[in-house]
Amino acid sequence: MSEPEKIDIAVIGAGPAGFTAAIYAVRGGASAVLFGGMAPGGQLLQTMEIENYPGFVDPVVGADLMQKMMKQAQRLGAKVLQESVASADLSARPFRLKASGGAEYLARAVIIATGAQARWLGLPSEENYKGKGVSGCATCDGFFFRGKDVAVIGGGDTAAEDALFLTKFANKVYLVHRRDKLRAAFRLQEKLKANPKIEIVYDHVPAEFLGEAKLNAVSLKNVRTGETRRLEVTGAFIAIGHSPATELVKGQLKLTEDGYIAADDRTATSVPGVYAAGDVMDTHYKQAIVAAGAGCKAALEALAFIEGCQKA
Ligand code: NAP
Repeated sequence: MSEPEKIDIAVIGAGPAGFTAAIYAVRGGASAVLFGGMAPGGQLLQTMEIENYPGFVDPVVGADLMQKMMKQAQRLGAKVLQESVASADLSARPFRLKASGGAEYLARAVIIATGAQARWLGLPSEENYKGKGVSGCATCDGFFFRGKDVAVIGGGDTAAEDALFLTKFANKVYLVHRRDKLRAAFRLQEKLKANPKIEIVYDHVPAEFLGEAKLNAVSLKNVRTGETRRLEVTGAFIAIGHSPATELVKGQLKLTEDGYIAADDRTATSVPGVYAAGDVMDTHYKQAIVAAGAGCKAALEALAFIEGCQKA
């Protein structure tokens, strides 16, 4: 078996936090390997139009922004791997990481920027119809619902964006929200209300997904009255937020009560030399620009840590 590759900084995750960390790490003179998984880009790959990321006069497509970040990191010398990290031993330094392809790495510092995973409702019938009408990704699957009636579940920015995106294909889009007020940004709410294909169904949650081989309806429960109604849709897109992706570090790093990596203002985790940035540690803002800022902090801290170890 070949010797583990020795690197200064390992960055795990390929969203705005990970790429910014890699950019700062290599600009600081360190060698950096970024483990990006099969489709580097993170959640922004599923965002059609970003108009609040500074530097872009016109809206930028999420995937394009991520491509730019990746190319920038690579141009500066970061090694971007299309592999994930299968296991990480954070109990001793240098930290030993095993990539999904089997290769091993010894890193002097590690930055965890694994982001968050889309959440599901948890209904048994949801499981039955995943890939048969129930989807967690409107940008991936919306195309298949040309001329159909579909539902989006959720009331945040993602649900609003998904509903707007789906109007490009679908005949009608129901936005089903559990409260009587949306959480989505005001500007998105205005767009929803102006779109004749969208109908917002307030105060309802899915009770059951119905159909035979494929989904053909959703039974909705009114959370105020308990009454149910049947929505005839062949697609249901779940957009109810995200949970931090901490599988890799569970039991090794301190987590918050809500399951985020506990990190201080300087992105330091409970293990010296391990830093966390982006949605995996951001309990509040969950914005691309905030994740990028945290990635910058994490890299600067990791560089200082390595330098400190050298002097000691
Ligand atoms: P989010 O803001 O947490 O919204 C989740 C929505 O799902 C909420 O409306 C919530 O209802 C609802 N929900 C949660 N659990 C539910 C359940 N079990 N059953 C039914 N409904 C449920 O998540 P997000 O929309 O994915 O956004 C995450 C972050 O990314 C946010 O900070 C957002 O601003 C950001 N984002 C930004 C953009 C953009 O700027 N272009 C695009 C996408 C996302 P309640 O409202 O009742 O809690």
